[in-house]
Amino acid sequence: MEDNILTLKGKVILEGVIELKTGMHIGGTKETLKIGGTDNPVIRDAFGNILIPGSSLKGKIRALLEKKDGKYKTDVRGNNLPCNCGECEICKIFGPHDSKAIQEPVRIMVRDAYLQPEGEKKPHDYLEIKVENTIDRVKGTTIKGGIRNMERVVAGSKFKFEIVFNVYKKDDIKLIKKFIEGMRLLEDDYLGGSGSRGYGKIEFKDLKIINKPKEYYEMKIKDVKLESASNLDDLMAKLEEIWSY
Ligand SMILES: [Zn+2]
Repeated sequence: MEDNILTLKGKVILEGVIELKTGMHIGGTKETLKIGGTDNPVIRDAFGNILIPGSSLKGKIRALLEKKDGKYKTDVRGNNLPCNCGECEICKIFGPHDSKAIQEPVRIMVRDAYLQPEGEKKPHDYLEIKVENTIDRVKGTTIKGGIRNMERVVAGSKFKFEIVFNVYKKDDIKLIKKFIEGMRLLEDDYLGGSGSRGYGKIEFKDLKIINKPKEYYEMKIKDVKLESASNLDDLMAKLEEIWSY
C-alpha cells in the first residue's frame, strides 16, 4: 500500500474580493440580539466585525456544483444530502459528507471572508434594516405578524476571501477548475438568505492566484508564482500559467 500514499506537492492559493451587488443577509444567532435590535441579525464575530463564514461560501459552491452534476443523495426521509461517494471530483475537493467515506485527503480550505471597511467607516456603517411584510390577498393590508425586520449588509460592500487548495496529484488542476466553475455559478446565484427576493448577488473581483510548491516550504526555493486576474474567466487562464505540477 506504500505506493498509494499521497504526499503534498504544494499549495495553490486563491485570494480576492467578494463585492456585494445587492444587500446580503447571512444570519447570526438570536443570542447576538440586543434590545432594540433586529430579529434577523447579520453574522458577526465577538468584536463586531462582519464576516461571511468560510463554511457558508464553501457550502454554497458545493451545493451549486452538486445540483448541476446531480451529485446529491436523497435519504429515506426525502432530504437531499451532499454527495458521499468519496470518489467523484466534488468529494475530492470538499470531502465526502461522512468522513468515514474519505479515500483521498480533502483538497480545499476556505477561510472566513471579512468585511473591509473603507476610510473612517466602521463595520456597522455597512448595515441596513430592510422591512418586509406579507400582504393580505383580499384586504390589501399587512397581515398580523407579517412584518419582518431583516438586517442586511449594504450593496457595494467588499469582503476579502482566501481559498487554499492542497495539491496531491498532477491532475488536481481539474479539481481547481471545477471549483472555479462553482464560483462562476455562484455569481449568477446568491449568497446567504432570501436570494429569490433579490438578496446576495455577488461578484468575485481583484483576484490573485499564487502557487507555492512544497520546495517553497522546505526553503529550497524563495520565489513563488503569482498572477493577478480581473475576473473568473481570466483566472482560469492564469491557473494554467502558474501550474507547475
Ligand atoms: Zn461524490
